[in-house]
Amino acid sequence: MKVYLDTIGCRLNQSEIETYARQLTAAGHTLVAAMEEADLMVLNTCAVTAAAASDSRQKIRQANRAGVGRIVVTGCLSTIKPDAILKMPGVEQVIPNADKDNLVARMLDLPLQQLASPGVARQTVPGSRLRTRAFIKVQDGCDNHCTFCITTIARGQSRSRPVREILEDIQAALDAGVQEVVLTGVHLGSWGYDLDQPASLKSLIATILEIDTLPRLRVSSLEPWDLDEDFFTLWQDKRLCRHLHLPLQSGSASVLRRMARKITPQRFAELVTAAREQIPQVAITTDLIAGFPGETDEEFQEGLAFVEEIAFSGAHVFTFSARQGTAAARMPGQVHNYLRKERSAILREVTDRSAQRYREQFLGHEVEVLWESATRAKVGLRWALTGLTDNYLRVQLVEDRPLSNLVTPTLLTRLNPQPAYFSGKITQYPDTI
Ligand code: SF4
Repeated sequence: MKVYLDTIGCRLNQSEIETYARQLTAAGHTLVAAMEEADLMVLNTCAVTAAAASDSRQKIRQANRAGVGRIVVTGCLSTIKPDAILKMPGVEQVIPNADKDNLVARMLDLPLQQLASPGVARQTVPGSRLRTRAFIKVQDGCDNHCTFCITTIARGQSRSRPVREILEDIQAALDAGVQEVVLTGVHLGSWGYDLDQPASLKSLIATILEIDTLPRLRVSSLEPWDLDEDFFTLWQDKRLCRHLHLPLQSGSASVLRRMARKITPQRFAELVTAAREQIPQVAITTDLIAGFPGETDEEFQEGLAFVEEIAFSGAHVFTFSARQGTAAARMPGQVHNYLRKERSAILREVTDRSAQRYREQFLGHEVEVLWESATRAKVGLRWALTGLTDNYLRVQLVEDRPLSNLVTPTLLTRLNPQPAYFSGKITQYPDTI
């Protein structure tokens, strides 16, 4: 069968699609790069915002118009709205998050064991740029109840994957030649709490770093309350990417309480200080919600001042959107939409400025860039490369050779403000090319 795989939303969805790619290949099916070529499509949906939910529905309609025979839908939107999704034209099967690890087995009516694919290297999902890095799912679900969050409702309680399975996935990815492994989960920091022999994310990372063939390890979003100053000692290993994504959501203590976030601005600031002391030039990025129910002008100004003080290296700023089924959607004091948008714009301005200041310190420096893609340059026979440093600086330049999936030292000579990327010069080429 020809199968088209697609996903919307988080890295966890991405890593699940990669696992389906391996299992489908192990079962002898062919992955195709376009819906139009497919007999069957699997879509991993998202519901974190109204926009993500609408994109998910749009993909299903697109697949139906493209004439895909069988559409199988999983993910957060199909978990919270199963009947509505099943009624959509072309949708044959909805598999909720709780059972998505068995999706391919259920879809092909095969025992899960038959899909175990040791030795089957990690598959590149056609159409994706995943030759360079692998998203490895280590944990799913969440036991927290942040009042704005639909994910905890859609993904269920926290559950950790065993170390053996995680190491197998990482080995399969390294066998496929990836240069960077990204650990991902819904509530990554809770990994290990629920295992028969409870363990910590710190111990898992230390175990993974024992793989001496592992070039680069990146840790995805971490809830700040799971961390302590000792966690940052892991970064003595230079293969750990100097990037911490710590969702703050609001810099106002009273708003954080209404969000049921287990952190205070003061404790957040202490963690950031400790991280910056122990990890030189670390990039600290975050998520922020503007216009949370009941947010007064004073609370907004308090939060804004805190965000300015922390000086993030980047931020995703979300305009609050009430997700049906969450406590925040039922809260009094819903903020007018124009004010939510206005506050988002102000927050973006502040975080864009601090991000630019963070980037500027690297001008004229030599950094290690993992080149993600090489496409033919518009002019001449050269190649347009784009890549990322470990601390999330984007770099673009034109080269004589397609250096995709390679790490090279590169001198950063120019910084383009918006979209933000560096250009520069590769200072040393790998012997292998
Ligand atoms: S920690 Fe909060 S925001 Fe994150 S997934 Fe859990 S409930 Fe949602």
